[in-house]
Amino acid sequence: MNLSIPATIQNYIGGRFQDPVKGLYLDNINPATGAVYGQIPNSTTEDVDLAVAAAEKAFPSWAATSPEHRFRIMNRMAELIEANLEALALAETNDNGKPLSLSKRVDIPRAAENFRFFATAIMHFASESHNMENRAINYTLRKPIGVVACISPWNLPLYLFTWKIAPALAAGNCVIAKPSEVTPMTAYLLCHIAAEAGLPEGVLNILHGDGLHCGSAMVAHPKVKAVSFTGSTRAGKDIAAQAGAVLKKTSLELGGKNPNIIFADCDWDKMMKTTVQSSFANQGQICLCGSRILVEESIYERFKTEFIASVQKLTIGDPLEAESKQGAVVSKVHFDKVMSCIELAKAEGGRILLGGKAVQPEGRCANGYFIEPTIIEGLGPDCKTNMEEIFGPVVTLQSFKDEAEALALANCSDYGLAATIWTQDVSRAQRMASQVHSGIIWVNCWLLRDLRTPFGGFKNSGMGREGGWEALRFFTEPKNVCIEY
Ligand code: NAD
Repeated sequence: MNLSIPATIQNYIGGRFQDPVKGLYLDNINPATGAVYGQIPNSTTEDVDLAVAAAEKAFPSWAATSPEHRFRIMNRMAELIEANLEALALAETNDNGKPLSLSKRVDIPRAAENFRFFATAIMHFASESHNMENRAINYTLRKPIGVVACISPWNLPLYLFTWKIAPALAAGNCVIAKPSEVTPMTAYLLCHIAAEAGLPEGVLNILHGDGLHCGSAMVAHPKVKAVSFTGSTRAGKDIAAQAGAVLKKTSLELGGKNPNIIFADCDWDKMMKTTVQSSFANQGQICLCGSRILVEESIYERFKTEFIASVQKLTIGDPLEAESKQGAVVSKVHFDKVMSCIELAKAEGGRILLGGKAVQPEGRCANGYFIEPTIIEGLGPDCKTNMEEIFGPVVTLQSFKDEAEALALANCSDYGLAATIWTQDVSRAQRMASQVHSGIIWVNCWLLRDLRTPFGGFKNSGMGREGGWEALRFFTEPKNVCIEY
């Protein structure tokens, strides 16, 4: 298997690499250097038609395979991802700007885990039966849906791409999938891995291109029966409207503005170490990062001083260097957006306690898109800075007097993806956890993931859940059979 990276990548349709029908391409840029290092197809409806046709053709025989057969191929994909960790991690970092150490430790291992998890899960996936005493038996058949679309964002490229593709394939569907046009490379490399693992042609088709031309054509295609999407709330709403008009099944994992609620009785050292991570890991570009830090009044000043000191220690620089803890943000467009959010925070009266500026490393990364980890205080809950998702290395601090105020601040957001609660009081942890409006609550930890748990958000953070049985249920159609005897 050859995992080298060509200057121009191709779509993968029906088991073959193909140029886009209309010959349109986009530049692929390394955000750490600002340099164009390749071209990717900007696929259109014509390419989507080809991919759907290939998937449709492959569907009957793939849907008829046994779970054990699918397990073997998908488990092989997991092994091949692990065996090629170095090449995949480097490709991820060059596309995304994240530290190579993070790609190696988190992104690529998790992509392998996603395949292995759903490969094994499908062998244990059982449907229900409901007995009507002395009269009838109901049982639920769960069949794959057919051709499904998976569309993913740039922040955790292969990690989130495989989080969708793996359950879709395990359940017996054929997939047309699109990574973000900003980070296409590991999805391209995955095509080689799928072929090497023996995934039959047409079962997984990978298209490249932007949301406007390629993504919306995938959602619109009448033969695509379900859409699993992770990305911005803006695009999620567009997709919901488009799919809703034809009653197409959707799973939408969208933005967040997550509260990180810190009580005075927390385990201080663990809280501080984890809060630095939950604020700035992946340059704050994780939908689960806590961007609104809410701190109990009695510890606010101590927290502020120690948090600033800890964040100051994060080394910003070339993502390929082992000591870099903060890499580049993903693109010039995103860099400009984050910088304008910092300006807005100032205009709204926010005080910049740390950071707030662009960074220009020396050497290879002099033209990269680097931003200092930024801590802001002095803003109320209703300002744009505290209401809108920034999705970069920017957090705000607010203080609260008691549980009721913490809850009010946590819940005043239009988003409801994740929340973190720091307290040693079990009763309070439980009270808060049950009342915070978020799909995911971490108590005294962050990003501790059990892949069996439901994953998704309330309100503007999305619709539906991924993970475990939830994902396998999404990618199957239940049918109740009632037999009277
Ligand atoms: P985005 O919405 O711009 O793009 C996501 C993907 O959708 C890309 O592949 C893009 O090409 C495609 N797309 C865009 N518009 C589309 C349309 N109208 N129809 C079909 N496809 C379309 O998001 P992004 O900037 O790539 O990612 C950042 C966002 O993703 C943030 O809001 C972040 O919170 C969110 N996110 C959410 C989760 C979660 O699990 N809830 C996880 C990661 C990221």
